[in-house]
Amino acid sequence: MLENMNEKCAVVGIFGHKEASKLAYFSLHALQHRGQEAAGISSSDGEKLHTIKDRGLVMRVFNEKKLSTLSGKSAIGHTRYSTAGNDSILDAQPVFARYDLGEMAIVHNGNLTNAAEVRNKLIEKGAIFQTFMDTENLIHLIAKSEKKQLLDRIVDAVQRIEGAFSLVFLSRTKMFAMRDRHGFRPLSLGRIANGGYVVASETCAFDLIGAEFIRDVEPGELLIFEEDKAPKSIKVFEPTPKRCIFEYVYFSRPDSKVFGQSVYQMRKNMGKELAAIKPVEADMVIPVPDGGVPAAIGYAQASGIPYEMGIMRNHYIGRTFIEPTQEMRDLKVKMKLSPMTDIIKGKRVIVIDDSIVRGTTSRRIVKMLKEAGASEVHMRISSPPTTDPCYYGVDTPDKEKLIAANMSIDEICEFIEADSLAYLDETSLLKSVNATEDNYCTACFTGKYIV
Ligand code: AMP
Repeated sequence: MLENMNEKCAVVGIFGHKEASKLAYFSLHALQHRGQEAAGISSSDGEKLHTIKDRGLVMRVFNEKKLSTLSGKSAIGHTRYSTAGNDSILDAQPVFARYDLGEMAIVHNGNLTNAAEVRNKLIEKGAIFQTFMDTENLIHLIAKSEKKQLLDRIVDAVQRIEGAFSLVFLSRTKMFAMRDRHGFRPLSLGRIANGGYVVASETCAFDLIGAEFIRDVEPGELLIFEEDKAPKSIKVFEPTPKRCIFEYVYFSRPDSKVFGQSVYQMRKNMGKELAAIKPVEADMVIPVPDGGVPAAIGYAQASGIPYEMGIMRNHYIGRTFIEPTQEMRDLKVKMKLSPMTDIIKGKRVIVIDDSIVRGTTSRRIVKMLKEAGASEVHMRISSPPTTDPCYYGVDTPDKEKLIAANMSIDEICEFIEADSLAYLDETSLLKSVNATEDNYCTACFTGKYIV
């Protein structure tokens, strides 16, 4: 159960701004793509913390009236994604607690690999848990720490957890931001134009609230925010960077700068590399929107084959609940993605997507394009085959459900009924993102786990 929690999330922290909760709210809008299950904000007015969180999109959880109750000059926020199991309100973040030093709220992006072990030890000592979230472990570790200051207790607590964590803590008067020693998940620091600081999972949040990017929070670094002071940095762990390469492949927004580089540019590079190593004759290059767009632009530019919008995406489709028959399932894909029949009829098309997970999307897309009259459909994937699940914060299914863990590329091609299928290889992927050393985590493509 624990493994399913806290995946694919966004965190934000605003410090030293009179409209802190509003800025956190706008930031969460920019980060909505990282999680749509639940959203929440805690603010501090200096004496008391205020928290609102609920299931659903940021827009549904908050309104003007609710935001006005989140008073104070500091606020932290979260959007949550989880696949299986618990969509209980209890599992929304921020996680809030009262303890001997006062009040505290925490938001977390990532996944703790020793969560069950830590939790069992805490339970043996009498701790009572309210949620399934690994983040709740931190509350207990901080509350039980024998250190006198919150800062020392945080340092104490993070030394007992393992795995991926980009964390923001809020107390009544301070804010803390921390990345694990590998820096799996991103976290950036910015300066707000009319005063104060922001930390967020992606810099697209900065652009929205008019903040200027300063730098990334470093792997293993803890930043402390106090009133009228510049953020103070402590190196808690010796950094051994293993940034998540999947942030570039799929997860982050193209207008963000993640791990110091433009996501859009990295994806375009992947498309260019793909065109170089996996060429095919065709009339046009089309993306699977939205994920495949930048790589398709790169592929088209490098190959000289025209880029076309061959598939239309409906942005207003949320979850559809009608699924019982195959016919209805196909209809569901068509509701989200429809073929531009006039453009693709009689044409040889190269379709670019960022990844194949279970294979269902690709299979349906090929079928849809063929039905719309495409004469040939060549699938090109801008990352290597996804063969292994992620334990560091990206939502991937079990190995049995990953098509590339169970079939060869030829077999997958046959399954999705494409005329050809090719993936980017690991070396070309690393080249695309300018990885000069072994500083990225590629476990989902290679099974090389570090923790
Ligand atoms: P599938 O149908 O299972 O093969 O899913 C492939 C599609 O899911 C691709 O279009 C990807 O853009 C998208 N995708 C890849 N990874 C994830 C993820 N972790 N969460 C949600 N969607 C994803």
